[in-house]
Amino acid sequence: MNRFEEKVIIITGGGSGLGRAAAKQMASEGATLVLVDLNMAGLEETKQVIIDENPNATVELVEANVANEEDVQKYVQYTKDTFGKIDGFFNNAGVEGKQNLTEDYGIEEFQKVVDINLNGVFYGMKHVLKIMKEQGFGSIVNTASVGGIRGVGNQSGYAASKHGVVGLTKNSGIEYGQFGVSIKAIAPGAIMTAMVEGSLRQIGGDNWEEAGKEFVKANPMLRFGKPEEVAYLVAFLLSHQADFINATVIPIDGGQSYKY
Ligand code: NAD
Repeated sequence: MNRFEEKVIIITGGGSGLGRAAAKQMASEGATLVLVDLNMAGLEETKQVIIDENPNATVELVEANVANEEDVQKYVQYTKDTFGKIDGFFNNAGVEGKQNLTEDYGIEEFQKVVDINLNGVFYGMKHVLKIMKEQGFGSIVNTASVGGIRGVGNQSGYAASKHGVVGLTKNSGIEYGQFGVSIKAIAPGAIMTAMVEGSLRQIGGDNWEEAGKEFVKANPMLRFGKPEEVAYLVAFLLSHQADFINATVIPIDGGQSYKY
């Protein structure tokens, strides 16, 4: 499939995990990519992996903090100036934050997680949507989480921010459908990336792999998801095949969020 031939796609959090996997998938289908991250070394690694597999791929890298609106303006304007349009936006960068009971959850930690996961997603939408509305087309996939559709425990900042991402998606989706723009959120369960390793280390320390084996016993499929499985979903949602999917959130969690 070449669903992304001549399509310009921005991905935040492109230096690792789900962002990198989505970048690889869409590059393999012809996408022109603008990858955004705080971590320039991670971005360089993603670019190398893509170029090794697709020597002709166009991959631009922008170092930016998604929690800083000026940085966000910069990566959006850079894309518009360089390529003239934005077909798709994977609004994905995020952090987990330190796990703690609500009463012990630090105020600074709460603000930091909300700044990145919620404000960062809002800034991205605000600046990308202006361009998509003018051009009359485009699609956005925001990364929420199962923590955006149910409680997970010990993650006040994370759950609040990800529920906020789902709210933004529903609200803006009904505003922008009339301009040919669709907005969706994904709600991944536990997908094995650096973030989940960090989360398991908070639970199990050096025995994090054992903690992981316990953790997945609660999943109907008895395993972690793979970044490439999320990448297939994101590529579908950013392609024209998913234009009529709008203002909604799609779980990808092996069924765990429907279990009780
Ligand atoms: P990851 O840690 O592998 O990648 C996250 C990337 O975001 C990193 O490259 C990091 O440098 C970047 N980033 C963090 N803060 C940033 C900032 N302020 N500005 C720019 N870049 C920043 O984690 P991941 O698992 O790939 O997570 C990607 C997204 O998926 C996050 O929003 C996360 O909350 C969400 N998510 C992940 C899982 C999972 O199980 N892996 C589940 C649900 C949701």
